[in-house]
Amino acid sequence: MSEIVKTKGIILKRIDFSDSSRIASLYTEKLGKLSCIIKGARSPKSKSGKIADILNLLTVVIYNKEGREVQIISEIDLINHFTKIKADLEASSYAFSISEIIDQLIPEHEPNNKIFLATEKILNLINENVDQAQFFFTKYLLFIIKETGYEFEFESCSQCSKNLGESEKVGFNYELGFLCGDCSKDHLINFEFEKELFNFIICLSKRIEIKNYKSADLDKIIFFLEKYLSYHVDQFKGLKSIKFFKS
Ligand SMILES: [Zn+2]
Repeated sequence: MSEIVKTKGIILKRIDFSDSSRIASLYTEKLGKLSCIIKGARSPKSKSGKIADILNLLTVVIYNKEGREVQIISEIDLINHFTKIKADLEASSYAFSISEIIDQLIPEHEPNNKIFLATEKILNLINENVDQAQFFFTKYLLFIIKETGYEFEFESCSQCSKNLGESEKVGFNYELGFLCGDCSKDHLINFEFEKELFNFIICLSKRIEIKNYKSADLDKIIFFLEKYLSYHVDQFKGLKSIKFFKS
């Protein structure tokens, strides 16, 4: 079966293909993640070549044929190229991390409206608030972990069911999840959180307004979430863009 689909999409990565074309990995609203060829994109005169840049939000018309590995893009229009993000090195590193996350965690050909809209929203938010890129990225990372089925149990200790919000220290074991201070003594602990930091993670994972935060705390949380994903998801190889920026 083949169909012509007009959809919004975000370019995740792209490679040169032949002398004239490019193949792009695209995350789309209607078809999910897929590979597409953009013919003629390497020509300096090509409009589609210019706008098919990584992270750009586009409207594309895809000639989609079932079973074919690489689909064909026949039309491409720019919605947003997030100029403020691209002018800011730190914001770019977090925005590129978003494309790395989708590339590594989202399976191909599985459209998910909620994840697509959240990704579009977070890129817009970072673009309008480049100085808060790290904050929005951390919230997005927690959202993706939840939506891809790796959600945490924040409320109660995985061993004794005690309310974790009251524990002075909260431990984390990759297999068991979060543990209260008492149960932490009896198990291998991969991460340990002070009460304040643990409650901050809970706030970040919910729709709670946060006015003040420390960048160093967000660094710790991102590091923890990255290790957590690396442990549980085979195909997840970490966030290279952030490492590049921090190094
Ligand atoms: Zn416990």
